[in-house]
Amino acid sequence: MSQPDAPRQKSTLFCPDCGYESPAPMGWLEYTLSDQQHKRCPSCFALVARRATETPADTWDRGRDQVRSGFALWRASVSHLQQSVERLSVRG
Ligand SMILES: [Zn+2]
Repeated sequence: MSQPDAPRQKSTLFCPDCGYESPAPMGWLEYTLSDQQHKRCPSCFALVARRATETPADTWDRGRDQVRSGFALWRASVSHLQQSVERLSVRG
């Protein structure tokens, strides 16, 4: 009574350029760039699909990292400013 796995054809993607086909997400080059998920044909590297990433947690982590590095940058510039001011006041 074992049922063979039904072929999931509903998500089969076709490459518009070379006709390559594979049931997504298998068989495609996937990568994330600028918070967008890109899917490319492994045969001719044509862009097949692009969508915004659905990972708010990841986005939040990245945003937090940006805030952190921005704060570090701000602190560095402030300390640099303080040093300049101290140098000025010593001279003045
Ligand atoms: Zn292709």
